[in-house]
Amino acid sequence: MSELTLEVVTPDRTVVSTPVAVAVLPGMAGEFAVLKNHISLLSALKVGVLRYKTESGEEHNAFVNQGFVDVNNNVLTVLVESAELAENIDAARAEAAKRRAEERLADKSDTIDHTRAQAALNRALVRLSLVRH
Ligand code: ATP
Repeated sequence: MSELTLEVVTPDRTVVSTPVAVAVLPGMAGEFAVLKNHISLLSALKVGVLRYKTESGEEHNAFVNQGFVDVNNNVLTVLVESAELAENIDAARAEAAKRRAEERLADKSDTIDHTRAQAALNRALVRLSLVRH
């Protein structure tokens, strides 16, 4: 039987390309797991954490921005706007993004796009959740 391959792709680069035993994805309606021989699937993903385990049992976490997942013939493709493995997250950058977003949210003037600031804050908080343990 062929193995399940995980590909995490952004407009800039391929962040992950590896055989996996299981991957857990941040679906719009909650987390869901994909194992080998999963039926074909195309679904939206929200900003969150992608977890996966290799055949040898190593566990990895990655930040994923919003996007889509496609599962077909044992290839699990995650197409997202940005993604980083937990160990590659720059905590200082995420802290700065968090502060910037919080300052924008505290500013009640009409020129501030609060939805955008809230989304930036959410990305920063998810990234920080991956570097703080
Ligand atoms: P920032 O305001 O710091 O750019 P952002 O959430 O707007 O944060 P994204 O648009 O998601 O950033 O990503 C832009 C690029 O920067 C992507 O290549 C992403 O992987 C990278 N990136 C963003 N934040 C971090 C971080 N804290 N650590 C490592 N890479 C990051």
